[in-house]
Parts: sequence; C-alpha cells; structure tokens
Amino acid sequence: MDNLTNISVIKELFEKHGFSFSKTLGQNFLVNPSVCPKIAELGMADSEHGIIEIGTGVGVLTNELAKRAKKVVAIEIDDRLIPILDETLSEYDNVKIINEDVMKVNLHKLIEEEFKDMKVSVCANLPYYITSPIIMMLLEERLPIDTVTVMVQKEAGTRLCAKIPSRDMGAVTVAVNYFSEPKVLFNVSRGSFMPSPNVDSCVVQFKLRDENKYNASDEKFFFKVVRAAFSQRRKTLTNSLSAGLSADKQHVNSAVERAGLALTVRPEQLTIEQLMRVADELKSSI
Ligand code: SAM
Repeated sequence: MDNLTNISVIKELFEKHGFSFSKTLGQNFLVNPSVCPKIAELGMADSEHGIIEIGTGVGVLTNELAKRAKKVVAIEIDDRLIPILDETLSEYDNVKIINEDVMKVNLHKLIEEEFKDMKVSVCANLPYYITSPIIMMLLEERLPIDTVTVMVQKEAGTRLCAKIPSRDMGAVTVAVNYFSEPKVLFNVSRGSFMPSPNVDSCVVQFKLRDENKYNASDEKFFFKVVRAAFSQRRKTLTNSLSAGLSADKQHVNSAVERAGLALTVRPEQLTIEQLMRVADELKSSI
C-alpha cells in the first residue's frame, strides 16, 4: 500500500483495526511523504541487500524498503499492528514481519537464516525511548552488516555524531566511533510525524568498519572507563573516574599521569587513543 503518509488513510486503518497510539512504545509515525524514500535510498535498500527494519508502525518505511531491497525482515513489538501490516504489505512477497522486542531477537541467527548470500543493512525510524540501547546492541554485537541508517531525536543525533574531541561528545560518541564512521544525513522536522513529538529529529548513518580501527586490550573495561569518564561531563577526568569507578583518587591520578595527561584534563578534551591509554594504565593499577 503506497499512500501510508495520507492521514485519512491512516485514520481509516486505525478505526478498522481498533488501533490507538502507544506513547510508551514511542509510536510517532512518519507522515511526510519525502522522508521514507530518502531513508530507503541512502540506507542501502537495493537489489543486493537484505534489510532489517526495527519498528514498522503501519509499514510506511517497510513499503519503501520492500520496493527496493532484495528482502526485508521487520521487527515490531506491538502485536496490535500485525493485522494492519498484513493489509498494508500484502502486495510484497519479500517481507517478513517478526512480532518481537528487538532487544530479545538473536540477530546473528536471524541474519544467518534470512539473508544467506546477501549484504545486510539496518534501516529504522527508532522508538526514541530505547535509541541508545538499540544502536549499541547493533554495534557491539559485531553483526555482519555494512550500514545502520536510523532516525533519532536531533539532540541524540548531535551527540552520536559529535567530533572527537569536542564539548558535544559523550560516552556514546566514543562507542559509535570505536565501531563505525557516524554522520548526520539530514534533518526531519517534528511536523513530519503523527502524533507530532516535542522535538525535531534527524537521520544518522553508521558505516561499520571492515577492520577494527581501535583495539582496546580489554574492551569491556575500556567502555566501563569511558562511561565513568563521561558520567559527570564538566568535571575533570580524575574526579569523574574516581567517582564513577569508586576508585582511590591517588591511583586514578597516577594512572592519568602515566597516560601522559594533565590532572586538570576534562574527558571532552580526549581522543579515543588517549582514553584507551588511560584504561590500560588504570587496569594495571586498580
Ligand atoms: N517505522 C514507523 C514509521 O516510521 O512511521 C514507526 C516508527 S515509531 C517511531 C517506532 C516503532 O517501533 C513503533 O511501531 C513501535 O511499536 C516500535 N517499537 C517500540 N519498541 C520496540 C521494540 N523494543 N522492539 C521492536 N519494535 C519496537
């Protein structure tokens, strides 16, 4: 079904199936007709790609993906949407809907079973209440995918794609840069959604690296240090680390000095390499 950005078509579907929006599931559906074709095209939906979509709504983006991609597997948590999707996607035989919480799906297994011999990308208008957990899961799982193209709240997009080092960066910026090359593709105004949220959005893309650019000696500990470093962003690195890791201030100070940094340095002034050095020094002393 092609006219899923038409508000009267959506209202008719809702009435027929007795559907109403769930705020807790982050249901803001796209009604601006120019956005989904753009996400599909920039998100690698083509005849060589299998696409994983997260959160279908009534299938407005799913339609655009199905027109272009070899296959689409879409994961939607809300079972009330399944009968609607049966109707709106009925013309496509290359779409499979999985009625599940994306955080509970084994994506390695899904890719192996559903996308044999295909390149794989992820495209989505993400539910905003779990934007970061979903993005981190997609990256940390080291899935065999080439790009993740997702709509997020503008503020989240700025943080995710911030320069390193810069005042805008946070723990999530370090994490996405560790695994991928992030960039903002385009902005989307709040009026493009139904219901309209209180903030604007943007579409961001993460190109996963073929080879590791960064190799932390202990990845788990490195990310623990990064989270602690940015937990109190405007404090000095040493104060944030000793509070965030419940570590002795003297130990932290000497680790930071051994990493070649001043005790007055703030986390937002550091590169990923410097953060890795701090983690290594801390590990050997804590
Ligand atoms: N793609 C549609 C669009 O652009 O109009 C809907 C996007 S809406 C922002 C987010 C969608 O994600 C909703 O359909 C919601 O039910 C679904 N969702 C929320 N939490 C989810 C989860 N944990 N796993 C899978 N889908 C989820």
